[in-house]
Amino acid sequence: MKETILIVEDEKDIVKMLDYNLKKDGYKTLIAHDGEDAIDLAITKQPDLILLDLMLPGMDGLEACKTLKGNSKTALLPIIMLTAKSQETDKIVGLELGADDYVTKPFSPRELMARIKAVLRRMKEKDKLPDVMKIGELRIDFSKIAVTVKDKPVELTAKEFELLKTLIKVKGRVLSRDYLLDNIWGFNHAMEIQTRTVDVHIRTLRKKLKSVSKRIVTVKNYGYRFEYED
Ligand code: CA
Repeated sequence: MKETILIVEDEKDIVKMLDYNLKKDGYKTLIAHDGEDAIDLAITKQPDLILLDLMLPGMDGLEACKTLKGNSKTALLPIIMLTAKSQETDKIVGLELGADDYVTKPFSPRELMARIKAVLRRMKEKDKLPDVMKIGELRIDFSKIAVTVKDKPVELTAKEFELLKTLIKVKGRVLSRDYLLDNIWGFNHAMEIQTRTVDVHIRTLRKKLKSVSKRIVTVKNYGYRFEYED
């Protein structure tokens, strides 16, 4: 069964072109003409990928991207942004907000299809975690729940380990505090557990990870990501 792609674009001609090309390649499609509809469809239909135009009426594409990435029901759905050349800074902001790729208009259908395929393939690989991972000086054994830095064991609490694992699992993508809170502490967390909990745990995690701590990057007013590149 082929994947479902959500097209978010207000220009009818572009929607038609995207819809035609996606279906020709065997994908199923969903269509939203504005950001609000896009969020509703993403939550209810759980598409495999979202093609998000930045120029939309009402809520713009960046705002929609931020909302999607901040909602735990949609945070992990991959997003490819459609941008115009003049939107250089929007493109950078979009990637920081967790978009997976971008395509600049005008684009050829063939180029876009190749990008979609690449992002979907990356997503599938991402779901598989090996038993042991080495990232620079960090070594994590997921089956034994053991962490070492420069071959020295690091004692992590269960929540700290979950936090580290969650950040690593998404390979460099930004996760919002709300997403981390929902996924590590659960939906039914007590009232006193505030978003600040995430920050506090990040702080102790950084302290324990010593030289590796610089890989945990703060995205201001939003959340955290784990840096892969050396
Ligand atoms: Ca548009």
